Amino acid sequence: MKCAVCGQRDAVVMQRHTGRALCRECFVNDIVSRVRKEVVSFNMFSGNDRLMIAASGGKDSYVLLDVALKLHDPSKIGVVTIVEGIEGYNRLEDVEKVRKLASVYGVDVVVLSLKDYVGYTLTELVSLGFSKNVKVSPCTFCGILRRKAINEVARGLGYTKVLTAHNLDDEAQTIVMNILRGDLFRLVQTLPNGPILSKLFVRKVKPLRKIYEEEIAVYAHLIGYEFQTSDCPYLRYFPSLRARIREYLYKLEREKPGVLLELINRVDTVLVKYVSHYVNYPELPRCAICGEPTAYGRKYCMACELLMMLGIKPSYNLRSHINVG
Ligand code: SF4
Ligand code: ZN
Ligand code: ZN
Repeated sequence: MKCAVCGQRDAVVMQRHTGRALCRECFVNDIVSRVRKEVVSFNMFSGNDRLMIAASGGKDSYVLLDVALKLHDPSKIGVVTIVEGIEGYNRLEDVEKVRKLASVYGVDVVVLSLKDYVGYTLTELVSLGFSKNVKVSPCTFCGILRRKAINEVARGLGYTKVLTAHNLDDEAQTIVMNILRGDLFRLVQTLPNGPILSKLFVRKVKPLRKIYEEEIAVYAHLIGYEFQTSDCPYLRYFPSLRARIREYLYKLEREKPGVLLELINRVDTVLVKYVSHYVNYPELPRCAICGEPTAYGRKYCMACELLMMLGIKPSYNLRSHINVG
């Protein structure tokens, strides 16, 4: 079968949500031009921005780096990767994959381990939590500490935007979760150009938010990404509401391809109107221990609170990151 766009080359990919069969080149061009459109329509970044890509080493961040390199000046792109320190999980190899791609373009890579950042690996924090009967999932520790570290690294090195590799499936799940919880505050945060709640936050944007996870997997395969063979052992603690919503949304998408893309577009339209008329959030307060932003009405940030729950005196060290450029 010939490609539905160029009509010349053989089709190698079936793009479900458009019903088109595409050749390799037209598929890659389609993804890059859809990301470019999303970046421009929400002004996610422009020529002067210094972009820090938060990379996990998984396929999504690999694709994000590849697309960002096609859209932006490589000398204004950096990568940060946080090594959680999860026993039995092959993270260093993944970091190596991102490092290799980045080094081809001379892009700086910052590697920071949780061990250096807070003094403990994730596995050590989780075992402390179990021994103290702290009912907090490993993913909560992981997500909160990683987000805090990424923001501080990016800000400290003068980056003006943080790019994360969340895809369309992730974004649809977040939107539905916040609607079900009635959490308008968090729903507004899904908008790429929504309000910035603290001067200490480097704006985070998700250029892949309108690209299906399936498309990212195909793109990754086409650009030679070697897929991971091991899963994080804490995956079974992944928040169950999100896991159930994910299952349900996959089913909906299978029955009506394109429905999740439509959902995000519609929610964006409503939120853009809502934000321009009604939203004027005050600056977030700062944590009494580390000085970083925390939620309204809280004395400490979540990271400091979690560490204190484990009997650890919070202190954060950014100095020991490895800069491999
Ligand atoms: Fe971290 Fe949870 Fe993902 Fe493992 S599954 S890397 S603990 S967020
Ligand atoms: Zn083609
Ligand atoms: Zn704090």
